[in-house]
Amino acid sequence: MRILDINKYKQQFLQVENPSRYTGGEFHYGKKELKETDLKCAICFPDLYEIGMSNNAIRIIYDLLNKIDGIYCDHLFAVAPDAEKMFRENKIPLYTTTEHMYVKDLDYLGFSIGYELCATCILQVLDLSGIPLRVQDRTDDDPITIGGGPASTNPLPFSGFLDFVQIGEAEAGSEEILRILQRYKTRKERLNELKKLDFLWYPGKEKTIRAIHSDFSKDGLLEHFVVPNMKVVQDHGYVEIMRGCPNGCRFCHAGQYYKPFRQKSLSSVYNIVQQYVDEFGYRNITLSSLSTGDYPNLDKIMYALNRDFSSRQVSFALPSLKVNTFSLNILEQISQVRKSGLTFAIETPFTQWQHSLNKEVNLEDVISIIQEAKSRGWKKAKFYFMTGLPFTDLDKEEQGIVDFLTEVYKVTRINMSLTIATYIPKAHTPFQWVPQLRPEIGLEHLQSIKRHLQNEIRGIKVSYHDPKVSYIEGVMSRGGADCTEVIMKAYQKGCRLDSWEEHVKYDLWIEAIDELNYKTNIDGFSLDDPLPWDNISLRVSKGYLKKEYEKAKNSITTLPCSPECSHNCGVCKDDVQTVSQRDQDLNIEEHQKKTSFSSDPTWAIFEYSKTGAAVFCSHINTMRNFEMALQRADINVRFTEGYNPKPRMEFLNPLSLGVAGKKELLLCQIYKKEGDTEENIASALNSNLSEGFHVNKLVFPPFKKKTSLASIMTGSVYEILNIKDPEIIEKLQDSELAEKTDEKWIITLPGEKNLFKTVFGKDMNKFNIAGSSDIVRKEVLINGVTL
Ligand code: SF4
Repeated sequence: MRILDINKYKQQFLQVENPSRYTGGEFHYGKKELKETDLKCAICFPDLYEIGMSNNAIRIIYDLLNKIDGIYCDHLFAVAPDAEKMFRENKIPLYTTTEHMYVKDLDYLGFSIGYELCATCILQVLDLSGIPLRVQDRTDDDPITIGGGPASTNPLPFSGFLDFVQIGEAEAGSEEILRILQRYKTRKERLNELKKLDFLWYPGKEKTIRAIHSDFSKDGLLEHFVVPNMKVVQDHGYVEIMRGCPNGCRFCHAGQYYKPFRQKSLSSVYNIVQQYVDEFGYRNITLSSLSTGDYPNLDKIMYALNRDFSSRQVSFALPSLKVNTFSLNILEQISQVRKSGLTFAIETPFTQWQHSLNKEVNLEDVISIIQEAKSRGWKKAKFYFMTGLPFTDLDKEEQGIVDFLTEVYKVTRINMSLTIATYIPKAHTPFQWVPQLRPEIGLEHLQSIKRHLQNEIRGIKVSYHDPKVSYIEGVMSRGGADCTEVIMKAYQKGCRLDSWEEHVKYDLWIEAIDELNYKTNIDGFSLDDPLPWDNISLRVSKGYLKKEYEKAKNSITTLPCSPECSHNCGVCKDDVQTVSQRDQDLNIEEHQKKTSFSSDPTWAIFEYSKTGAAVFCSHINTMRNFEMALQRADINVRFTEGYNPKPRMEFLNPLSLGVAGKKELLLCQIYKKEGDTEENIASALNSNLSEGFHVNKLVFPPFKKKTSLASIMTGSVYEILNIKDPEIIEKLQDSELAEKTDEKWIITLPGEKNLFKTVFGKDMNKFNIAGSSDIVRKEVLINGVTL
């Protein structure tokens, strides 16, 4: 197994945006030893690090695979355009995030496909790894590639570049896959054995059946977890309290894909929250599911969590609370520490149209909830609508949305924001046959709604997903096997990161479609047409979907899923049942955490070093990593007051990216526990810091009043060595502050002076300097404190 030496490319990594995406050094919980394993694999989220590391499926699969004996699973992500250019120019093969293993040398490469627009990033990952893009060109030297996830239930568009697509939940099949890869060594043997698994799809397979993780509700604590090394898009703990949803909305693919709904027990939810707070260091926790309000006893668990964690500034968010499951008590609970957003997914304005979707969102209910929320301090509300839904009328729709929101505004005067998306019909749903709105019509319609609303409601923010991007997603979501060629061509033309509006290249996609004369399925199918994904069963029968389609046409609703279900869709039978936690209780007392801290805070100065992978960590991320490490180490730091409490921490004269530090200083106030000493606090923190950060010592300075280190800083000392750029030497020779000793330069700066501005001036790029030499800050000098 070849391993990449990141330090060899320090200069190059300092030239790309967010080098922490590529340089590793994360904090690991339950890290496995690479050398003690016989099968090397990686789970890839085909998008950027900050998206992938926020993804719950990636967290689950990473833990799942590493739980299997003999398996080492690492993370992998797509790279940004600047890094792709740098990788290609420097012939750097793609490598895994933590161990920097060459991806080409892996046994297994899994792709978690959360949305179709990640398809070209799958090709980028294969290409940068030196793996042939087409499966038929691969050899024993290439890893087995398997995709899976909600956006791959129509696997045909991925058929050209993935060996298999796993239909269903990763927990219900991954071990079987890995055991086969451990038992068989050649590509041919592995492919033949894997073809026998009924949840793995490959071109020409007669029938593939979705794998369901029936034991979801029993899932407990994670054994293997990696805390991202930089702030990620969803930078919070994520506790999946329920999988699936009882409501069966007809436009919703996830509702069919994750059937039947299964709920976690209250105590397991509580324990996983505690793990995210104590073991991983998160203070923002999302209790997530497709419909959180349908989780019974939500108020009970919220009460227990707020009672035990709010004093530690831990806040909880409950996304996707449906209007009909909203309760004021829940509202009260989620506003204890910090008010999370108030969102209403209305989808379409008229009750009859809502019934076609098998949903009901009553205007009066929305208004009364907002009025109650306003009385408890909420100031704004978000609304979601969709356009292009079947059995609706575009002309009436605009006025309907305007009337609905104007009425809400007239009564509540709440600040409003609205997001409208173009409906994208998905495979395996009751609407898999319907046409998708053409982008040019959609755009005109969305712009008209925006203008109309902004005339009616003062200050309303209206945003919409670009209908062109929805068109590309729609082309792939119901594409046939020949859609692979469209994706390949789009990739060769330069398409990447298509889920990012700043990166998507619509015209190149259209060129690819036209050049291949590809017939999209955007205009839908008749009910009798064969569908490209007919050989794939999510266990919901096609007959049931047709019945739901007919009911939608007549605006007839279907009852929610329940153990007493009267309208069997085909999923619940034998060992597969809905799992409701309706009747269980939470022995609240049992969970009380009894750590007592001193009542008065003590000033503390941590002297620490920042080297290795940590030099690629920006100041903002250094603060974040210390904040989470202090929490993991159970060191109780004093927080600011106010709306969004934060730990009071002062990092003295923060280092620039690429510069190491031997004796950096952090000042904060801590509430000591009984028996706390400088040594045990420093060692507790050291066992919880991410790679490259190390506390040298801790001192309790005798500060009587509010003090800042900046006010007593007198200077700093740097050393520069291994200089590759003669211009740097010229500047050092010209500087009175620099002195050459042996093979290195020592620079002593007064006060808070910045090294780059003071010695090298503005005309030299500081990342170039840091990249073409080794710069280390030896120490920061402060007055009046003995360290
Ligand atoms: S069988 Fe009934 S309860 Fe089970 S998933 Fe289908 S509709 Fe829901």
